[in-house]
Amino acid sequence: MGEPDRPPGRAWSGRATRAEIDLDALGGNVRALRSLLPPGASLMAVVKANAYGHGATVVAREALVAGAERLAVATIGEAAVLRRAGIDAPILILGAIDPAEAPMAVRLRIELAIATEALLDAVADAARGTSPAGPVRLHVKVETGLHRYGAEPDLALALARRIARDPRLELAGAFTHFACADEADDGFTREQDAAFSAWLGRLRGESIAFAAHHRANSAATIGGWAGESGIARCGIAMYGIAPSPAAPLPSGVRPVMSLRSRVARVFDLRPGDTVGYGRTYRCEAAERAALVPVGYADGYARALSGTGHMALGGCRAPLLGRISMDQCVVRVPDGVDAESGAEVVVLGADPAGIAPSIEGVAEAAGTIGYEIASRIAARVPRVYVRGGEIVAVEDALSDLGGF
Ligand SMILES: *Cc1c(COP(=O)(O)O)cnc(C)c1O
Repeated sequence: MGEPDRPPGRAWSGRATRAEIDLDALGGNVRALRSLLPPGASLMAVVKANAYGHGATVVAREALVAGAERLAVATIGEAAVLRRAGIDAPILILGAIDPAEAPMAVRLRIELAIATEALLDAVADAARGTSPAGPVRLHVKVETGLHRYGAEPDLALALARRIARDPRLELAGAFTHFACADEADDGFTREQDAAFSAWLGRLRGESIAFAAHHRANSAATIGGWAGESGIARCGIAMYGIAPSPAAPLPSGVRPVMSLRSRVARVFDLRPGDTVGYGRTYRCEAAERAALVPVGYADGYARALSGTGHMALGGCRAPLLGRISMDQCVVRVPDGVDAESGAEVVVLGADPAGIAPSIEGVAEAAGTIGYEIASRIAARVPRVYVRGGEIVAVEDALSDLGGF
């Protein structure tokens, strides 16, 4: 295995299908989101789920350089990947962990979201068992209406008191999460915001010190809900993907990822030929078809079968028949002289505006952009580009070295 802080390698299996990550766009998005924040507020870059499919380590470093102060993930494993890469910034795990994971979290200096007595018990125990590298930093998660992972206000206050009394623990934050920040009607966001502010008032009323408060995800940050001196927890918008049709991206934010491939083979279809499993596409008039080595196991949603398209030779190339696990077939557009090796933009950022956006693919597949991006599979190499040059590659196969 590599050294602990091995920089991302350039080794690349060379697989034609890869996710290109535009680091200039990512840095610009971080700066654009920071510029929206109210006075005293700061940015927490949410890099859970392998940075929504963009590759957590490189994205985390870039976001920190561009002005994010801290990071957030969903699991201990995700936090460990960042620490192993030598990233020292504060990292918060946003949701529940198993109490059995508490000692590991303490060792890795990970901040935890606390909403249950059981997790706080486990963390307090773990804090007693380790050498005092400073108190363990905790954020109490307050229930205000999402009903997922949050303590009802009275319990949240009791948890905060316990943390404040224990010298091995520190109340680093208090937070809540909105249920409908990405909807046009902000009525429920207003209610949750008021409930959270009232709860913070109770905390202050008891003179319990806390370092920060936070409530806004991307949509709420765009909507102006981050709160003075709050932390904005931004994921999706940092990747240049709109949270929802009702929460469009602010200006200066653009897509970061494009899923790309190259034509593996070009062939002719005659009238009556059918394409793919189930023979759902039947050729009417002679046409050219291209095989593209991307399939649903790469994260290319099978629901797009028969309706989706990609960009080939600067034109729309419609999918023919079903998407298979590892490959699919498109029509070579009229007037395009595609050969094997021709570049294809499957989805995402496309300067020519031909490939479908992640939001468009999500809509066609009956889901949200979050799912399309975060499901880009581990077997797809991530190729990082800055100023038009490849500056890093993360490829699961590159760890095979030597072969
Ligand atoms: C994932 C997550 C976020 C980030 O949400 P985006 O909509 O991607 O900005 C913020 N807060 C919590 C608690 C989350 O789980």
